[in-house]
Formats: sequence, structure tokens, C-alpha cells
Amino acid sequence: MLCIPITADTNEKALQDIVQAGGEGHSRLADVIEIRLDYISHPDLERLLSHRPKPIIVTCRPTREGGKFDGPEEARIRLLEKAVELGAEFIDIEHDSIQHFRNRGKSKVIVSYHNFQETPDNLNEIYTRLSNSSADIVKIVTTAREITDNLNVFHLLEEVSRGVLQYAHTACKPVIAFCMGELGQISRILAPKYGSYLTFGSLAVGKESAPGQLTAKEMREVYHIDKIDKETALYGLIGNPVGHSMGPYIHNAAFGELGINAVYLPFKVENLKEFVQGFKSLNVQGYSVTIPHKEAIVPHLDGLDPLAREICAVNTVVNKAGKLIGYNTDSTAALRELEEGLGDLKGKKVTLIGAGGAARAIAFGLKQREAKITLVNRTNEKARRLAQELGCHYKRFEDVTKVDREVLINTTSVGMYPRTDDIPVPLEVFRPGMWVFDIVYNPLQTRLLKEAAERGCHTLDGLKMFLYQAAQQFELWTGHPAPLQLMERVVRERLIQQKPK
Ligand code: NAP
Repeated sequence: MLCIPITADTNEKALQDIVQAGGEGHSRLADVIEIRLDYISHPDLERLLSHRPKPIIVTCRPTREGGKFDGPEEARIRLLEKAVELGAEFIDIEHDSIQHFRNRGKSKVIVSYHNFQETPDNLNEIYTRLSNSSADIVKIVTTAREITDNLNVFHLLEEVSRGVLQYAHTACKPVIAFCMGELGQISRILAPKYGSYLTFGSLAVGKESAPGQLTAKEMREVYHIDKIDKETALYGLIGNPVGHSMGPYIHNAAFGELGINAVYLPFKVENLKEFVQGFKSLNVQGYSVTIPHKEAIVPHLDGLDPLAREICAVNTVVNKAGKLIGYNTDSTAALRELEEGLGDLKGKKVTLIGAGGAARAIAFGLKQREAKITLVNRTNEKARRLAQELGCHYKRFEDVTKVDREVLINTTSVGMYPRTDDIPVPLEVFRPGMWVFDIVYNPLQTRLLKEAAERGCHTLDGLKMFLYQAAQQFELWTGHPAPLQLMERVVRERLIQQKPK
């Protein structure tokens, strides 16, 4: 079940939000609505509970548990008891106040524990202690300081689902458990897979009741949480940062289109070794890998496809019967886009700007096609080393205008959103008839491509490469052809939405 918290600061606005979250005439957003009384200065409970389009949780969180209520404890308990009298379906009460709460009527009581510092190791103990209270449902919300903290929560949920934490005198009580913060978002999305009683999504950006809360719309429309169940296969992106990635949009749309029971998640990873080891327990079926982990992930894998081994960089991981195998689909994707534009690359004089992960992948592909490559990079030494590996030329960054070329490829992040006025080379490099390929795809028309087109060059943007590498990834994971047109539509829509107004 998806619960939308109402965080308006007046009764009037709260009533409007309740209607929007669950009222008729709107597309389905909430299964349950939580009214946060602590956000409203003078809550009018009769009015707030008079129209209940969905079951209501009434919460009045004190400041000590991360809420806004700083009045006397008795007044707070009285408010909750009044909500019971008015027939609220659920009352949320903190673990250190539940003993003062006696008048529960027909309402179900959620006993909650919040930890804004960390995710402790003893979640089972906390669950057991909270279960021993008179509550019907246990809620445990912690803070993810590392992505692996989510594993503690999944473990707790699984044990509760399996009835392992049952005592002699009580059955396992249902539990709501997830981690707060950006690193905890995956636990909010995977709540239905591991059996959390419900999960939260905000009514809109800016209306969150806790850090890391995604919007209800995103939970439903991007991550398809209604379709997530025990059997849902896991995929995701390993990177840092991952917040602006297109991966969740295109891969989840593709899974939905093909009716594949799978979800693709953003994994913001700092400690790669701990992540790869820890997440083996979730049996993740495939990863995309992005900045800064494409080269660093190699030693943590069980095997490499020959192309990835040659390039020594991985952007795709496939779980083959528990073994993690690395692939590189950047190379094939970039070369496919280039060949669609230019035809045969044999003997073509190509200047490649950059010497990072993407540059490696493209340079190896160009070498296979027998193009004449010159590498140029801000850090000259990196260009020199890569040129040595490849057996090609390199030039100092300052001398880029002196290179004779037919094709210029930018593999640096220069010009990428939000620094869209930046350009990686001086304008003198352009010659009419030259091909200019910028692998940056946000924005689609970078300043490099705009200046090049104005000077009579042919241009290629990074969109097709992005789509081709993602499609090949999808095919390696699922064995099904990727719905390329749908993926392209999704990326274009997202790029338009991300444009600064
Ligand atoms: P990376 O390994 O971190 O390499 C970054 C490269 O950019 C390095 O050569 C770096 O030079 C250079 N660079 C960064 N800032 C610079 C600046 N201010 N001036 C000059 N050079 C600068 O990253 P990557 O994985 O290769 O990705 C690079 C870009 O390609 C990103 O924008 C990424 O989104 C894009 N990309 C697109 C696709 C696609 O499918 N279209 C696929 C992969 C990557 P130094 O060595 O001097 O630091």
C-alpha cells in the first residue's frame, strides 16, 4: 500500500491535499493518507476527518522524533485520542509514548521508532521490543548512511514475513520498515517486495514528510510499485551521483512494456567492494555502471567479456547463475552511431577529446575499425598512457588546433547540464565538412555541436549512443529485444522536463 502524508500547514490546505491525494476524479495516488497534525498550527480534527476518501493514519509527531509538535505531551495524546473517537482507521504513536495511550477504540495502532542518525544493527531487537507493546503494527524508520544499510531493513522485513521473529504468546505483527535519506530510497521502492505493510510517497515535490521520500507519482509511474512483489527481479545503476540518471526511466518503462516482472533502481555507491559483496544476498540480476566506477568495478567481478577485458572498463554487469560478468556496451553503441553517420571508419583521421572510461571504450572500438586516432586530454599524461596502450598518437591539449582531422569526438563531460555554455575545444578546430560527435546527451544540442553546425560541420549528438548502450544492456539482461522507440520517447520527455524554465 502507498501512503501519502499530508504536510500542509493549515486545515484548509490540508483538506485540499487530502482530496488530491485520494479523492474521486483524480488518478489513483494514495491507498492510505497520513494526516500530520504536527504540521498544522490549530488542527481542526472534525473537519479533517469529515471527508475520508481513503483510510487515514493520524500522526502528531513530537520534535524529539523528528516532527514539529512542541506542545505538552498530554495535549498531543488528547489529540490522538480524539482522532480515535472520530473513527480514524490508524493512529501512529511513538514507542516511548504508547504506554500513555489507552483509548484506542476501533483504530489500529502503529507504534513507531525513528532514528535520524543511522540504521542500527539491532533492528530485530527493536522490532521485538515494539511488538511487545499493545500496538497492532510496528513501524521502524532509520537513516541510511551507506547504501548497504538498506540490507538490514530488508533482512528484518524478510524475517518478519517468514514468522521468524514470532514469540510464544503473539504472532508476528505486521511491520512498516524503510530507511530515510537519498541512500534509503531503494527501501521505500522495494517495500512491497520484502513485505513492508506500507510505504510512503509525497503528494508533490516539496511536500515530503521525511528525507528521501519520492513522490507518489514517481513511485507508481516510474517504479511501478503496484507491480512489485516477492518475485520481482532486481536491476540497477551503480554510480555516484545517480540522481539525474535516465536509467530508471528507460529501463523501468521497457520492463513495463514487455511485461517483465523487474525493477531498475538507482544505487548510489561510495564503497564499491562492500556494495558488490553485500548486495549479492539480494541476487541482483544486472547492473549498469557509470561514473566513477566503470574501471574500478573490474576487480570485483567474477569474469569479463572479451571486449570489456580489452577495454578494461565495464558499463554492464550480468548475473549469470550467481557469477557477475562484466560487459562494455558503450563501445559498440558509439561505433554504431558513428558508422550510421559516416559509414566505414577505416583510415579516417579522428581526434578524440578525453581519456576517461568512455574515451577508452570508443578508442578501442575505433582501433578495431582501423581509424587513425589522435588523443587529446586535459591531463596530458592520461592521453599519453592511453595512446601508448592503443598504439596511437596523442597531442598536448594546447595543441588541439594543430591536428589534421576529419572527425572530432568529445568524450569529456564539458558542456553537460548545468554548465551548458562550456565547450571542450577552441572554435578554430572546426572545418566545413568535418564530423563532430559529442557523446554528452544532456542537453542534446551542446554548445560544441551548435558552434560546429554554424561552421558547416556535420554533427552527431549523444542520444543514439546512450540508447544503443542501454538497449544492448537490456538485451544482455533479459534476452528480449529492447523497445528502442519507447526508450527514446522516454529520454526525450525527461530531457524536456529537466530543461531549466
Ligand atoms: P570519466 O571517466 O570521469 O572521464 C572524464 C573525462 O572528461 C576525462 O578525460 C577528463 O579529463 C575530462 N574532463 C572532465 N572535466 C573536464 C574539463 N573541465 N575540461 C577538460 N576535460 C575535462 O567519465 P566518462 O565515463 O568517460 O564520461 C564522460 C562523459 O561522457 C560524461 O558526460 C558522460 O555522461 C558521457 N557519456 C555518455 C554516454 C552516452 O551513451 N552518450 C556514455 C558514457 C558516457 P581529465 O583526465 O583531465 O580529468
